[in-house]
Amino acid sequence: MAGQNTFTIIKPLAVTKGYIGPILNKISEAEFKITALKMLHLTRGEAQRFYEVHVGRPFYDDLVEFMISGPIVVAVLEKEDAVEEYRKLIGSTDPEKAEEGTIRKMYAESMQANAVHGSDSDENAEIEAAFFFPSSDRF
Ligand code: ADP
Ligand code: MG
Repeated sequence: MAGQNTFTIIKPLAVTKGYIGPILNKISEAEFKITALKMLHLTRGEAQRFYEVHVGRPFYDDLVEFMISGPIVVAVLEKEDAVEEYRKLIGSTDPEKAEEGTIRKMYAESMQANAVHGSDSDENAEIEAAFFFPSSDRF
């Protein structure tokens, strides 16, 4: 059975540009329930660890720099088929390829500064949620 949870990050530039509210609104309109939420500034070590699967990719070092360039908002989202449904809502990694109405189409600046993260599997959703939230901070 597909999972109920996914994990998201509103990335630094989207936070700086004032898109926290609009993005959370899109998430609510799409009938995801927010079950954990906070704002924080990643350390370099945390950003490196979060994106560990991408070590060695040409974009890795720049991605880590970008992710520590300002505060972020992290959240756990609940809905039936959460991972797949949220990937549909955010759109393609490259905002130029993202469909109209998707979060990345509306709020991304570039492939790197693409507004939001979304988990790619149920297993990673749990790992990523646990990275930021102890179970006592999930509701
Ligand atoms: P997604 O976030 O859609 O799951 P990936 O997991 O492949 O995409 O990549 C993680 C993040 O790394 C992307 O969201 C984006 O910020 C950045 N990224 C991926 N590919 C590139 C690239 N070719 N150039 C710059 N940044 C990239
Ligand atoms: Mg990914």
